[in-house]
Amino acid sequence: MQSTWSQSEVFNWLQKYNVTGPRYTSYPTVPAWSESVGALDYQKALASLQPEESFSLYFHLPFCEKLCHFCGCMQVITTDHSRSQDYVKKLLQEIALVRKQIPQRLAKVEQIHFGGGTPNFLQAKELKNLFEGIHQHFKIEDQAEIAIEMHPRTSTQAFCDQLKELGFNRISLGVQDFDPKVQKLINRHQTYEQTKDMLDYLRSLGFTSFNFDLIYGLPGQKLNTWQKTLDQVLKLDPDRLAVYSYAHVPWIKPVQRSFQDSDLPNPETKLKLFEMALKTFPQAGYELIGMDHFAKAQDELSLAKKEGSLHRNFMGYSTRAEAHQIGFGVSSISYVGGHYFQNQKQLPDYEKSIQSDNLATFRGCLLSQEDQIRRDLITQIMCLGEINFKDFEKKWSLDFKKHFASELKQLEALQQDGLLEIKDQKINCTPIGQLFLRIIAMVFDPYLEKIKTQAKNPTFSKTV
Ligand code: SF4
Repeated sequence: MQSTWSQSEVFNWLQKYNVTGPRYTSYPTVPAWSESVGALDYQKALASLQPEESFSLYFHLPFCEKLCHFCGCMQVITTDHSRSQDYVKKLLQEIALVRKQIPQRLAKVEQIHFGGGTPNFLQAKELKNLFEGIHQHFKIEDQAEIAIEMHPRTSTQAFCDQLKELGFNRISLGVQDFDPKVQKLINRHQTYEQTKDMLDYLRSLGFTSFNFDLIYGLPGQKLNTWQKTLDQVLKLDPDRLAVYSYAHVPWIKPVQRSFQDSDLPNPETKLKLFEMALKTFPQAGYELIGMDHFAKAQDELSLAKKEGSLHRNFMGYSTRAEAHQIGFGVSSISYVGGHYFQNQKQLPDYEKSIQSDNLATFRGCLLSQEDQIRRDLITQIMCLGEINFKDFEKKWSLDFKKHFASELKQLEALQQDGLLEIKDQKINCTPIGQLFLRIIAMVFDPYLEKIKTQAKNPTFSKTV
């Protein structure tokens, strides 16, 4: 990928395309969902599943000891570790409740992901209890990917030992930025040495697959210190990297007012920070995956990209496209039978539902055939950066140019600006278009206009 652009090119793109827009981890996006979709709809979707279908399970573990000032996640800040014990009990109840709705004798699981919050807030024995509950109700496949997000500062060796014993095989570490000044501004203190020690210990246990999360656009980030972080990351040799754009939405996340707006890099610098990642990681042998992930050439993600089977969901890019996703825990999202469902977003509401033996669904989205078509198209743009008209027509029995006549017209302007090329019955995103995939996807999203008109404040973060 080209990673050096002239100042005037950058200026032009930023002027036009640094607008607010969704990240498309779902389509339709969450603001288009409705609270008229509830537990009964979720129950129906679960009951309609066929015996051969398999699952991907997500567990949301919301507790964190300290609040990071950039945080956009659903978390509960506490140092009271007894709280997770009761939460695990609720998760076990929820597993049993959900499982009751699934008619299959064997509910095969090919992926489990523990996200947060800070999943390693849990005690090792709590994680073990949770795992026993999963085993009791689901059949975890031998080749299943079992992943967990971890915070190196609060992780213990006992917890790592437990992960090994339970069969975890993918570890995702939150790194964000190693620079102490940035860490002070974002209230996340975590030295390079702490991260390295934890990684060394996990490697000594036999773990071989590591993902790092980094964020560009954080307060205090400078080009030279960011380059140092990127070089330090390379020394630690992760297999995958997610390099997220910091989403500044203080009207939704007031904690982001803990620093001054003037501490944030301006859009030109922010794009430059990402450009540095785009240069550094491919030079070290990583491939760009979708919009903001990198993976070693032999990693499953890189292979899935080559085979065209890459997928996108709430956990980022994934290779498990076909599995139904069941979310457990407060605020978690499920995608079952072609529809989205979300659990209660506040912990007391979630706990109350589960306590009274009810599914905790509070909103969702039942997708029409047209939604499914556009969801597939947007996923292809976000994952592969290309659309092959003939393949798409075959899959959905439609005439691409007729069906998307007005969108193709709108794409002409993006083509003129060098973001994509339309020729030989294909749309291909260019290297710069790869950075603005959200802008290209937005053309195919008919809900956007209504969402923007109805919202009092911007609903989405800026694309850069
Ligand atoms: S550890 Fe993660 S979830 Fe918790 S406050 Fe920090 S960014 Fe948010």
